[in-house]
Amino acid sequence: MRWGLIGASNIAANHMIGAIRGAGGDIRSVLSASPERAESYAAAHGVPRGTADLETLLAEDDLDAVYISTTNEKHFAQAMAAIAAGKHVLCEKPLAMTVADAVTMVRAADEAGLVFATNHHLRNAGSHIAIRDAVQAGRIGEVLSVRVFHAVQLPAALQGWRIDNAGAGGGVIPDIVVHDADTVRFHLGEDPAEVVAMAGSSGMGRGVEDSVMSVWTMPSGAMVQAHESFTHAHAGTGIEIHATEGSIFAKGVMTQRPIGDVVLRSEAGEEALPFADHNLYARGLRLFVDAVRGEGRPAADGVDGVKSLAVAAAVAEAARTGRRTAVDYGGV
Ligand code: NDP
Repeated sequence: MRWGLIGASNIAANHMIGAIRGAGGDIRSVLSASPERAESYAAAHGVPRGTADLETLLAEDDLDAVYISTTNEKHFAQAMAAIAAGKHVLCEKPLAMTVADAVTMVRAADEAGLVFATNHHLRNAGSHIAIRDAVQAGRIGEVLSVRVFHAVQLPAALQGWRIDNAGAGGGVIPDIVVHDADTVRFHLGEDPAEVVAMAGSSGMGRGVEDSVMSVWTMPSGAMVQAHESFTHAHAGTGIEIHATEGSIFAKGVMTQRPIGDVVLRSEAGEEALPFADHNLYARGLRLFVDAVRGEGRPAADGVDGVKSLAVAAAVAEAARTGRRTAVDYGGV
């Protein structure tokens, strides 16, 4: 498959260029807002063409798909242009700045018969697949509650627009809550209904929140407690799922790497759940390519991206108003 990169980003450089090439993809061009940066990024990553003009990139008739990893406020217009040009789209999270825009993107791709996927990496992790399989097989019974620990130290290299630019989609809610919402939906197979939340700055965010705690209700009656932050250097990450017949404790699994420990505790004692250690982004890319070939579906499709954004938007609204807030999925 022939690819265009929309966005000369860190995530493309550190994870996605390798994943695309690992799946046999040929990256033909890269877009940056700056012509010089487009050229230097293209040269640094062995990409034949760099351009600052989206229409030029999309007019190249040899592209099958684009990977969008610009700052969040640009995703909507760039995805709509790519869809209009007949390209399959793998888009970074959050899909857009509003749920309505995300719904418009996903519906446009659907109507054009194009594959549209959201780059939620966590549901590709062997650890999360093992957890989901245990939950869905009924190994711990009826789920009562979930606790998500995703308070990390934002690396210095990422302390740019994320910590001070609301207009670019900065803040920990659009950055991390979307991943946790997607992961909880993946494990429980249901969508959060209502949320309450508090958010604030704990020293890093300027004009945007760097920390948030929220509680979500699920249609089954289960409750979810989530904590996301940019300022917790030593907290470690994890997810716990507590149910009528057992509990799952997964440590160090809210991460980009195939690491961590997953333990199932029940009457029978404690059992470590084994899991595969493949690259998360490579698996997501492979499933996207398969979907373009007409086989299966992406790991996280467009509707999954709309729903994770809808939960994050509800958390932001609940934190802002102090009110219990229903999640509005925009009709998807
Ligand atoms: P970056 O800050 O690396 O890139 C975003 C934009 O900033 C780029 O498109 C680029 O603009 C500009 N930029 C980047 N580096 C430089 C530089 N050195 N000088 C000037 N401009 C620069 O963002 P991330 O890679 O961290 O995130 C991009 C998107 O990917 C976001 O939507 C984010 O939410 C998502 N993401 C997803 C992850 C996942 O695991 N799914 C993980 C990390 C991010 P231009 O293209 O115009 O040159």
